[in-house]
Amino acid sequence: MFEEKLLKGKPVAEHVYQKVASGLEKLKSHHVLPKLSVILVGNDPASKVYVGRKEKTSKKLGMDSETVYLPQETSEKELLRMIDKLNADPAVHGILVQLPLPEHINEHNVIMRINPDKDVDCFHPRNVGLLVSGKPYVLPCTPAGIMEILKYYDISLSGKHAVVIGRSNIVGKPMANLLLQKNERANATVTVVHSRTENLAEHTRRADVLIAAMGKPAFVSAEMVKQGAVVIDVGINRVEADNDKGYRLVGDVDFDSVLPNVRAITPVPGGVGPMTIAMLMFNTLTVAANQNGIKLNSSH
Ligand code: NAD
Repeated sequence: MFEEKLLKGKPVAEHVYQKVASGLEKLKSHHVLPKLSVILVGNDPASKVYVGRKEKTSKKLGMDSETVYLPQETSEKELLRMIDKLNADPAVHGILVQLPLPEHINEHNVIMRINPDKDVDCFHPRNVGLLVSGKPYVLPCTPAGIMEILKYYDISLSGKHAVVIGRSNIVGKPMANLLLQKNERANATVTVVHSRTENLAEHTRRADVLIAAMGKPAFVSAEMVKQGAVVIDVGINRVEADNDKGYRLVGDVDFDSVLPNVRAITPVPGGVGPMTIAMLMFNTLTVAANQNGIKLNSSH
């Protein structure tokens, strides 16, 4: 029941991978093999899973990829030196430093050090500035993946009220920026709410499109969602479960209670999740093309 309401990420990701594959053919015909270098500092288990998937997906697509594993006690200076090395290597087109970093390392200094031309995450202030100006270099992966889902399922945003829960630099803020871009795929009226917002539900109930990115399991209840709204659940939260792993993944939305009243909703897992890596691959291809002066036909 309600299967038709599910905005599944897998077919959308496949669609993006097809675009990547055809772009890759073109780059290879110019003797360019896109390469993504991922740096992981420390032993965070979830981060290890993510970087493993990034390397596996790059290789599966036929791109080059490496993961640089650095110990937890790596100093900021040592990390910056590694970034300098990758910045200087012409065979490396994309650099990604897996977040979060250990507390003794300043995230801002690290992001500032990455050559913005190799910044596949769109975290560098130059690229954030270009995004805000409506002239993006690359799009931030998770928000761009959400825009791809909305496009694929033919959900128009123009003139609609989109409410984003969360104001992080990774999801909330860039999401709001993409939604309000002046183009036919966006043009939304955007509200951003966060941990200090008063009367949160009053805002969320006015959303035609509600995007939950707060990292609080099943926080968004049926009373917080307008009848007929489209709900995008970005949250990935581990909650204890009686299974082999000892946990299961849940979103920020109380899926079962919200489902009957919505027009459409992304499941967790299997909704936004698969899109982040797909867009990362797309961005790796894009920056490799840019660095070699090659024009790709496909666009976001
Ligand atoms: P974050 O912790 O950096 O930011 C959370 C934001 O939510 C903050 O801006 C905060 O103001 C807001 N918030 C927290 N509690 C709130 C409350 N009670 N009411 C209103 N707002 C509240 O997290 P993030 O990096 O933006 O990630 C958010 C969620 O998305 C996490 O569950 C994360 O795992 C997930 N995520 C998923 C993907 C994906 O690929 N699907 C990618 C990135 C993040």
